[in-house]
Amino acid sequence: MHELSIAMNIVEIVEENAATHEVNSVSDVEIDVGRMSGVVIDALRFALEEAVKSSVMESATICINEIPAKSKCLACSHEFEPNDIIAVCPECGHLYADIINGKELKIKKIKFLE
Ligand SMILES: [Zn+2]
Repeated sequence: MHELSIAMNIVEIVEENAATHEVNSVSDVEIDVGRMSGVVIDALRFALEEAVKSSVMESATICINEIPAKSKCLACSHEFEPNDIIAVCPECGHLYADIINGKELKIKKIKFLE
């Protein structure tokens, strides 16, 4: 399961951060997941419930932010929200657009327990 390895990766990064700061517990973790990242948020949330067990994140509040997708037309620079992988510009009908938002998968914030 793709999301489980991502969840384990997140826990690993948080544990490394906690070790660097010499803390044993984390109170809050905020994660940004883009709509175009290919990650199913519900599956990730479920995977995290398993992955955090006996880690520094065990009692942490996990907040997952869904980042909407955004594309920029390569022809007219119009920015729009694509509803598919192949995005057609609603302004000029150009087929190619750069995805400028929505591919992110990152830990935005880690709050340690004082
Ligand atoms: Zn365009």
